[in-house]
Amino acid sequence: MDPLKALADAERKPYWLDTPARPEPLKRLIGNTRADLVVVGGGFSGLWTALMAKERDPGQDVVLLEGRRIGWAATGRNGGFCMATLTHGLPNGLDRWPQDIGRLERMGVENLDEIEQTLRRYDVDCSFERTGELHVATEPWQLDDLSAHLDLIRDLGLDYVPMDQEQVRAEVNSPTYLGGLWERSGCAMVDPARLAWGLREACLKVGVRIYERSPVRSLDDNGVTIDLRTPYGVARAARVALGTGVFPPLLKRLKHFLVPVYDYALMTEPMSEAQLASVGWRNRQGVGDSGNQFHYYRLTDDNRILWGGYDAVYYNGGQVKQEYEQRDETFVKLAGHFYDTFPQLSELSFTHRWGGVIDTCSRFSAFYGQAHGGRLAYAVGYTGMGVGATRFGANVMLDLLSGERTERTELAMVREKPIPFPPEPVRSGVIQFTRWSIAQADQHQGRRNLWLRTLDRMGLGFDS
Ligand SMILES: Cc1cc2nc3c(=O)[nH]c(=O)nc-3n(C[C@H](O)[C@H](O)[C@H](O)COP(=O)(O)OP(=O)(O)OC[C@H]3O[C@@H](n4cnc5c(N)ncnc54)[C@H](O)[C@@H]3O)c2cc1C
Repeated sequence: MDPLKALADAERKPYWLDTPARPEPLKRLIGNTRADLVVVGGGFSGLWTALMAKERDPGQDVVLLEGRRIGWAATGRNGGFCMATLTHGLPNGLDRWPQDIGRLERMGVENLDEIEQTLRRYDVDCSFERTGELHVATEPWQLDDLSAHLDLIRDLGLDYVPMDQEQVRAEVNSPTYLGGLWERSGCAMVDPARLAWGLREACLKVGVRIYERSPVRSLDDNGVTIDLRTPYGVARAARVALGTGVFPPLLKRLKHFLVPVYDYALMTEPMSEAQLASVGWRNRQGVGDSGNQFHYYRLTDDNRILWGGYDAVYYNGGQVKQEYEQRDETFVKLAGHFYDTFPQLSELSFTHRWGGVIDTCSRFSAFYGQAHGGRLAYAVGYTGMGVGATRFGANVMLDLLSGERTERTELAMVREKPIPFPPEPVRSGVIQFTRWSIAQADQHQGRRNLWLRTLDRMGLGFDS
């Protein structure tokens, strides 16, 4: 189908949030309140922090302040790949923290196992399916990348299955696939909005006080407690945890390390039985192709296909703006790529198109820290892979706030900070040139130009 025609009736909103199951917002903070811990941000990061704080110490008073609605931002509009990796994939972790890689991989799998157990414990229905992720190669050079770490994967005891062209097409039938690697247990598919709303329910059940539509405008430290000021109230906190993603940070130093990058996705209408049979996909894995600019795609409960990624857009000036959530040029490109991948689905059209903003940092995986004499902790910079990793980051924040030394807080990944981005306008120039270079690499068998090789050597980058 012509991409323009296929998109003609697509709603301009995130599919996952467009449901009557979305709960009504809880009340605003009006007046003054006190708490042992105030969590700022009602995405996965803040929700996990609040829930686990109560689980660690049911006696403490925990408040969560969300500026808009629970899960409205990246948390409620992502691909729903809930991954074990804490390092934005094995290769990135291996490049940066080779000494810890075994530990990081193990802790990632434990984190995903614990997510699964928590969902069972609180009866959270978010269509959690531990199907794994199928990494597919669509160009010969990508086959080399997929097989690069097989020895290490075996040594670490990770559950990956290499596949040739025939095997991978038997899983998911696309004429573009040349081979693949099925990471079998390191990833689950979820409905991210229902996961966020389920965590909200769990928080309320254990006694977290949640206030929605309560943006924190300022943070004043009086030496003993920290006052968080919202438009109609103040929350006085003994401790503060920031799970504020890429939004203008309450801690000014964070702005040097984060840039907002927009990522876009489409949702198809449900497939008929015959259409689904034409693709196979009986094991319902998430799929990601392996270019520098990659697509991610997966099935929903009712056998739609979510199709996203490829363009990672930084708008010069680095603002977060609602108007950036729609980008027709990208939607048309994505729809074209969809039909190239699945020509047998040429009659399938799209019901939703949307974008969301990602907290990108130069090391591609979250960083952590403390301020205000150790009474405030933060975890940000998940760079497009935070559905699972935010729970690990929440645990790090709680460890840091408690002053405990744990296996988590001893990790170099937790102790080190990423390299900051240069200030504007140099920042925009550098990022746009990097984006151009990445697109060039994909068009030239993955060959990285001098600029990308220099960034690689410096351990720097730009990604979604
Ligand atoms: C299109 C898209 C696809 C993605 N796909 C995947 C995927 O498949 N798998 C994966 O692992 N990751 C994916 N991601 C990334 C993932 O969604 C994020 O890493 C994760 O949701 C981050 O959660 P968070 O809580 O840190 O941030 P957010 O979800 O951005 O939440 C931050 C919250 O803090 C609130 N806030 C900010 N400042 C204040 C303030 N001053 N006062 C009060 N509240 C405040 C905001 O309103 C917001 O609700 C994707 C992201 C996008 C945009």
